[in-house]
Amino acid sequence: MQKITWKYLCSICRRPIYRGKPTLLFATDRPIMVGICHSTCGYGRYNWGKFQMCPPDYLSDEQISFLVQFYPRLYSLPGRQEPNRELRACFGLLLWNYPASLANPMESLRKFLDEYKHWSQEWLYDGDLEADFLRLLGQIQRVAREKPMEVEIDFRA
Ligand SMILES: [Zn+2]
Repeated sequence: MQKITWKYLCSICRRPIYRGKPTLLFATDRPIMVGICHSTCGYGRYNWGKFQMCPPDYLSDEQISFLVQFYPRLYSLPGRQEPNRELRACFGLLLWNYPASLANPMESLRKFLDEYKHWSQEWLYDGDLEADFLRLLGQIQRVAREKPMEVEIDFRA
């Protein structure tokens, strides 16, 4: 198992990461982790899915494998004004408090529905959002378990 921790070389500036909240970079069109960078080096890089480490600053192999599978699926969902855009918005909320959010994914779904009321936007989902949300989440978790990344990330003190 590879362990990524402090002094890891930033994928963008190639200098070691000594402090701060490192940013993980994921491809959005295929399931791979592109690298890790200083949070400042990651600003404005919109071609990747970005996940900013935050306390507890640790991600297990299974949690990283989940993110690797998560980003391409998230980006393949319809967004903006497209029909069924709601699933993507709802799914994106899982990242706000990841990995804690996975302990109770329905909370993210409820949060989304709550916020939606204040958007005053048209509901464009024609399926069962809850069922699709849980189905996609289950698929990602299954693939993540089948294809472990064999890496853990530890930026605790
Ligand atoms: Zn850097």
